[in-house]
Amino acid sequence: MEEKRLIYLDHAATTRTHPDVVSAMLPYFTEHFGNPSSLYDLASASRTAIEDARKKVATAVGAVPEEIFFTSGGTESDNWALRGVASAYGKKGRHIITSAIEHHAILHTCEALEREGYEVTYLPVDEYGMVQPGAVEAAIRPDTILISVMLANNEIGTIQPIKEIGGIARSHKVLFHTDAVQGVGQIPIDVRELNVDLLSISGHKFSGPKGVGALYIRRGTRIHPLIHGGAQEKKRRAGTENVPGIVGLGRAIERAIAIMPEKSERLTKLRDTLITGLLRIPKSRLNGHPTERLPNNANIIFEYIEGESILLLLNAHGIAASSGSACTSASLDPSHVLLACGIPHEVAHGSLRLTLGEETTAEEIAYVLDVVPKVVQRLRDMSPLTPKELRTR
Ligand code: PLP
Repeated sequence: MEEKRLIYLDHAATTRTHPDVVSAMLPYFTEHFGNPSSLYDLASASRTAIEDARKKVATAVGAVPEEIFFTSGGTESDNWALRGVASAYGKKGRHIITSAIEHHAILHTCEALEREGYEVTYLPVDEYGMVQPGAVEAAIRPDTILISVMLANNEIGTIQPIKEIGGIARSHKVLFHTDAVQGVGQIPIDVRELNVDLLSISGHKFSGPKGVGALYIRRGTRIHPLIHGGAQEKKRRAGTENVPGIVGLGRAIERAIAIMPEKSERLTKLRDTLITGLLRIPKSRLNGHPTERLPNNANIIFEYIEGESILLLLNAHGIAASSGSACTSASLDPSHVLLACGIPHEVAHGSLRLTLGEETTAEEIAYVLDVVPKVVQRLRDMSPLTPKELRTR
């Protein structure tokens, strides 16, 4: 039987772990299996590997190794940033500022903090999903302890003016966190230039393994641990280290930074070909910012289409895509990100997110541009809501 073709265009959900990364990880499952906290020689290989990975992560984002703490991924890093600062500064103030389009790792943590007596301001965004720095400044109060605005949005790819927001936070002496999970390996990141105090990273978004990430904590930042136990990570994040995962994260981020210039340029071209081609479909429009967007993100709305049905038909053609974020694609609620951009409820359902990766080829994009218009037309022909002029039968 012929193997079913797979055109994977869901790199914002996750990426394939690169074979070089897997090779780097393997010895740490078998040969170098020692617990990094132990005192014998076997353990020192694990310890050295962790510190080597820490250097690589630090170099990738312009930090120093002492500012990098390993976690179980983007979700934990986000939870830690919010809860750790909330706990450390709870006596000074209980007000947090974030945006309406954050990932649920931020939004649901904020909601939990609200139930615990914190107050959260959810800043609106414009039609392109941009947070206005002026609105951040206006929301700052004497009891504000933290601002958290994502670097780039996982659904619509909009890149936020982080440097400006960071400058505002600093001038008001408020800590600033950014969820950079979608940005690492896509766009250059320098924590000093961006004026951030805390920054979340997740390995599986840039060809690294799942279940490992990091939190950058600027030297001198007060933050309580999220996970209590042993003395690992300078007593700030307990638990025996995920040594193979950390090694994989280090190798993956080093690779991602090395290939980024060429990859971004290539993917930007492919992305634009994809967007231009898809916008030829009548009653379609681009979600997110036209230029300030991730090189690999195309997110288009087709009116009179239901997101889930387009995904199923694309899947039948071997195309793996998403209608929103992977975590919410199982729910029928329209994306909170699209709603925040002012897109009406009924239209927001018809969004298609295609996210490219280092394996994506021009031939694949051409195939997608052949398939999607046919699929959209088929669904429009089937729907009783489609106006006559958009029907072929
Ligand atoms: N933040 C953003 C912007 C994301 O896109 C994701 C993953 O989808 C996360 C956080 C969560 O990261 P992880 O899957 O490593 O927990």
